[in-house]
Amino acid sequence: MSSGIAGRVGLIGDPVEHSLSPAFQQPAFDSLGLGVRYELWPTPSAAIPQRLAMLRSGEAFGANVTVPHKEAFYRAVDTCSARAQRAGAVNTIIARDGRLHGDNTDIHGFIVPLHERGFSFATRTVVVLGAGGAARGVLVALLEAGATRIHVVNRTHERAVAIAQELDPARITALPQAQLPRLAAQTALLVNATSIGWADTSLPLDPTLFTLLPGDAIAYDLTYRTTGFLRAAAEFGVSTIDGLPMLVHQGARSFELWTGVPAPVDLMLQAAHAARAARSG
Ligand code: NDP
Repeated sequence: MSSGIAGRVGLIGDPVEHSLSPAFQQPAFDSLGLGVRYELWPTPSAAIPQRLAMLRSGEAFGANVTVPHKEAFYRAVDTCSARAQRAGAVNTIIARDGRLHGDNTDIHGFIVPLHERGFSFATRTVVVLGAGGAARGVLVALLEAGATRIHVVNRTHERAVAIAQELDPARITALPQAQLPRLAAQTALLVNATSIGWADTSLPLDPTLFTLLPGDAIAYDLTYRTTGFLRAAAEFGVSTIDGLPMLVHQGARSFELWTGVPAPVDLMLQAAHAARAARSG
């Protein structure tokens, strides 16, 4: 099949070498016969101006953006979607005719696995751990999905207060960590959006808290491997979601924004699972 779509897209971040994105994006392009290469573009902060110039020059027709540059590219693009604006972060860039449009597909990626589980946003209580860039995207996604009772807990409580105030003080409450046990019995979704996940041994909360959650509660970690948080949740019989489906669904939405072609999501999920298994094996 030939679609007329060809060229390069890439992942901008620092570092990017660890990323699973090429492992599921490249097979997706190849399976549809698109002549597109998905590349890794390591970009220290000092090299952001050159990266912007490269995208504007037409050498590539799009990019993904990851840690730590999502906010910087939000400020640098010419236009951006309402979602990117709300999140204050861009993880997808579409380059056309020398202009750069930014979008945020993390928001979509986060919410898809919860819709697949039939999570009832309007009636259940959600607790989000963390108040950084990822937590902000999670909160925007939860608000869009209709969640009405959201609590944010963060090591630096003032950041939780600020993010709740800014996004929707009627639906988001900043909660001191010490109050988590009081709320546990009604917490149907507990999201780890801290950066603790990468270190397998540490935990963002007292694991005995998992014993207090309702029987159908979900523990969701944005990190796309088994973290201490997910392991502890599973040990106490709590259902879990890791960050791999979020990663794939954000990538699938990026793919569609770049190409205008429906993404082969199942193939992308399979490729991402295989790549992760190959790494941990
Ligand atoms: P930030 O650096 O912006 O925020 C980090 C957050 O973690 C802050 O709330 C910080 O609290 C908290 N934190 C860090 N260390 C500790 C600690 N020792 N104890 C308690 N809290 C701590 O990071 P991001 O928000 O950008 O990223 C968070 C995670 O989400 C990362 O692991 C990232 O890889 C993942 N992610 C996954 C995605 C996916 O597609 N699966 C997409 C986006 C992100 P404080 O404010 O007190 O410093």
